[in-house]
Amino acid sequence: MVRGVMSVPHVLVDDGGAVLLDCGFPGDGARIRRALARAGCGPREVRAIVLTHGHIDHAGCLAELRVWTGAPVFAHRAEQAHLDGIYPYRGWARVCGALEAAGRAATGYRAGRIDECIAEGDELPFWGGLRVVHLPGHTDGHCGFYSARHDLLFSGDLWVRFMMRTQMSPRIFSDDFTQVPASLRKARAIGARWVVPGHYDVPDAARLRRRFEELCAELERRTAARVV
Ligand SMILES: [Zn+2]
Ligand SMILES: [Zn+2]
Repeated sequence: MVRGVMSVPHVLVDDGGAVLLDCGFPGDGARIRRALARAGCGPREVRAIVLTHGHIDHAGCLAELRVWTGAPVFAHRAEQAHLDGIYPYRGWARVCGALEAAGRAATGYRAGRIDECIAEGDELPFWGGLRVVHLPGHTDGHCGFYSARHDLLFSGDLWVRFMMRTQMSPRIFSDDFTQVPASLRKARAIGARWVVPGHYDVPDAARLRRRFEELCAELERRTAARVV
């Protein structure tokens, strides 16, 4: 994991090379390059850049890292509008749009481009295999990635541990909040041993797993009480 300005990008390394899973906020590029160097990798060892979604705190350094590595970018096609800053936010999510616009203006953000469009069930040949799990709601093309070899699901911003709180993707940061509970259930049904969100404080896999379970249990309680 790489401690970014806002989110937590990951650098996945094995004998086959490296994969960047999300690219952090603008300014996180140096941190990601250092993490790669610590793993003994240079830019040419990076085989792919994989995005959970196109928010600025996950794709902020995409353009820079794509040029630096020459690696293709894998993401759901619906995320290109987010990368380009032209997604038509509606309702509460307009807050997210305004924050992103301010972030782009303040940081000199440059939009990256998706080279390979991914979809539910695709198997990406990286890190022993990463299965694409479409988890819409946070964004329309928001995807998780399941590694059977590591029994681990990268769940992006479907849920987060942020500001000392565990929460599912909130309304103001969700393209379509109504889809978030179903995506949370879909992620839980995979039954992965580890579930790693896109924002967290302590890199403690067991604690994250417990928090994810508690969040899902809370969702079911609220659903039973019909307050969701
Ligand atoms: Zn996000
Ligand atoms: Zn995020």
